[in-house]
Amino acid sequence: MPVLVPDLIWSQNSLLPGFALWIEGERILRVAPVSELRPDERPIYLRGKVLLPGLVNAHSHAFQRGLRGHVQWSVGQDSFWAWRDRMYSLANRLDPEGVEAISALCFLEMVRAGFTTVGEFHYLQHQPDGRPYADPDELALRVAAAADKVGIRLVLLRVAYGRAGHGLPPNPLQRRFYDRGPDEVLAAAQRLRARGLSVGIAPHSVRACTLDWLRELAIFEGPVHAHVDEQPAEIQASLKEHGIPPLEVYGQAGLLSPDFTAVHFTHPSEGESRLLRERGARVCVCPTTELDLGDGLFPAESLGDVPLCIGTDSHAMIDPFTELRSLEWNTRARTGRRNVLVPHDQPDALAAALWKIGSEGGADALHLPTGRLEAGMYADLVALDLERLELVGARPLPGMVFGGNPSFVRDVWVGGRQVVEEGRHPAEASIRATSLRLMSNF
Ligand SMILES: [Zn+2]
Repeated sequence: MPVLVPDLIWSQNSLLPGFALWIEGERILRVAPVSELRPDERPIYLRGKVLLPGLVNAHSHAFQRGLRGHVQWSVGQDSFWAWRDRMYSLANRLDPEGVEAISALCFLEMVRAGFTTVGEFHYLQHQPDGRPYADPDELALRVAAAADKVGIRLVLLRVAYGRAGHGLPPNPLQRRFYDRGPDEVLAAAQRLRARGLSVGIAPHSVRACTLDWLRELAIFEGPVHAHVDEQPAEIQASLKEHGIPPLEVYGQAGLLSPDFTAVHFTHPSEGESRLLRERGARVCVCPTTELDLGDGLFPAESLGDVPLCIGTDSHAMIDPFTELRSLEWNTRARTGRRNVLVPHDQPDALAAALWKIGSEGGADALHLPTGRLEAGMYADLVALDLERLELVGARPLPGMVFGGNPSFVRDVWVGGRQVVEEGRHPAEASIRATSLRLMSNF
């Protein structure tokens, strides 16, 4: 039974010396003082390292990793919507092997950065002409194969996508996304569960799903994620079609509950914020994507104690440290104040609250027993280097959260299995080579 003994270990609100963590199978057996080690146990000493719960990337579109470095110059008047057309053009060029290769590249970068779980908001389902593959789950299974290859824990959020928007004709660039009805989505989710995957559903947006679709999807039991209030134009369209903003549409459909995660929620009305709190729903914030796409700054300071989690969404960068500190920094930019999210004076409190958003918050959004160093949880763990130049003289937890980056991550375990050791992943060379071949003509 592996026993890990780091210099410091995560303990909810701080980091403590003198503790060991026992792993049994894929779960944490216990966390206890090192004095409880038995003489016959051979612990693995993580010298110069701190052990923390692995992070959860609750919102990802893995194939969009292929856009990195290809959308940072303008084509005419650039905006979210112009970016979206370029993203569609990539989506329509990928065959199943391409989807698997880019997903593996994306997931590899995630585990190297400290993410042990990904919630993949999966909307690339069909062939480029819109016909289903011989196996209708072909592309979802390609994503799952990529996650297996890398060793990251996957929750497949099967998207529901019905239309281009209210009153719009079908968009040929979206043919690979369209489902014929909500029953097709529910059947796919059921099949994927039967195939052993952890599954949620994801009505793409109120733009892509009618109210009738959303009502039918409300019978699903499990995590439900949806894009909400990312762009002002989407809110205007909802007001025009329904007379109410997007979150209220999900509410009318019966979808709002603690199982519901509103992705982005960048421009909520006061009524929407109140409704979200009342129903116990949560928000997944994707700060670097929201900056990159010009969406805006998430108003964390006005939402009180709504549970949060993070995602790297379009993968302009994959850096959980930047996502987490941006939650606080963007709030400082909006308010002109400091230490906004956790104002009291316990020195590790703000950094600990941010790490919990990254770990526990994402685990709760995906219904997984992970993100905590407690008996019975999955042994999804990260060990960070305490001896970095950047941490000399720094208090470790706030030093890492506010000054760290993915290269601080040295070791990663997912379900008790070590997938990154001293910064190296055994499949990196082959994943690099395959991706490079595929992406050389992007
Ligand atoms: Zn998204």
